[in-house]
Amino acid sequence: DELISQIAAGEVVERPASAVRELVDNALDAGATQVTVRLLAGGVRLIAVEDDGAGIPRDELPVALRRHATSKITSLHDLESVATMGFRGEALAAIASVSEMALLSRTALQASAFMLDARSGELRPAARSQGTTVEVKELFFSTPARRKFLKTDATELAHCVEAVRRHALARPDVGFAIWHEGKLVEQWRATLSAEAGADDGAQQQALERRLGDVLGEDFIRDSVPVQLRLGAVTVTGRAGLPDAARSRADQQFCYVNGRFVRDKVLTHAARSAYEDVLHGQKQPVYALYLQIDPLRVDVNVHPTKIEVRFRDSREVHQAVRHAVENALAAPRA
Ligand code: ADP
Ligand code: MG
Repeated sequence: DELISQIAAGEVVERPASAVRELVDNALDAGATQVTVRLLAGGVRLIAVEDDGAGIPRDELPVALRRHATSKITSLHDLESVATMGFRGEALAAIASVSEMALLSRTALQASAFMLDARSGELRPAARSQGTTVEVKELFFSTPARRKFLKTDATELAHCVEAVRRHALARPDVGFAIWHEGKLVEQWRATLSAEAGADDGAQQQALERRLGDVLGEDFIRDSVPVQLRLGAVTVTGRAGLPDAARSRADQQFCYVNGRFVRDKVLTHAARSAYEDVLHGQKQPVYALYLQIDPLRVDVNVHPTKIEVRFRDSREVHQAVRHAVENALAAPRA
């Protein structure tokens, strides 16, 4: 079982950043409003992800580490329309099999927190407020072949920061902080939902503030809003003008129902729009958010859930292409 876990781990955890992505997914699924990531040596020596979410009840701490243990879906029907980031119940087990992991958690109903050491199974009372801290130490210590493929600490750190950045661009209502070797590397403050209100305009504002915080105020200046609904697909976000590419070429963020994805249909559609309107714009910068009926997209294609499959990719392609074309071609103030 140890071996099977380690093989599965290879698919889920490629480098520290993959563990960071999974742990932040879990924090968001738990309803966190603040997520803090602390790293040592680019995440190889330590990744600690701390949240103020619902917490894990004492008795469920050992369960959370088991393979295919997920509290998030209970039927195949749920699998068709997952709303949470996680659902495969693989990540914690996979990461634990290639590291020294500890879970520290407290729910609203508990008088104290509990800490589980994954390796020894020891469970003891500990101190913290409501929420969860997952500590991952010495990643790949038992799989030297994989450890050898890691790059310098600076490179691994950059990948970790990028992983958090992807989450941050999807969730302006959540605060994020990243520390490395005791120094604050990035901090993005939440736009509280009370400030943002519930209407679309307020949410768009919150998103723009986060885009400015994460990608730089110059990105807001050098980009145009995207807003289009075509059939079952809604596309929002911002498309960078040529000036935006000067400082941050080739940063492309695509989200499907709040999930960061890499997808050829989306990048091709956006690229076509840029070629049509701004001939020769080779490395556009954009952040695009698609909302689509969960039944029309399969997110269970790959363990890392970074790939998706659309039921009707032509429809999605058209929606994105038109959305970006309209945005780029609109007269500007
Ligand atoms: P999945 O996210 O696919 O369910 P994981 O292996 O990532 O699988 O996590 C296993 C389970 O552990 C989750 O279903 C959840 O119940 C619990 N869990 C993990 N991290 C957290 C967290 N930060 N806060 C609350 N519960 C968590
Ligand atoms: Mg998960």
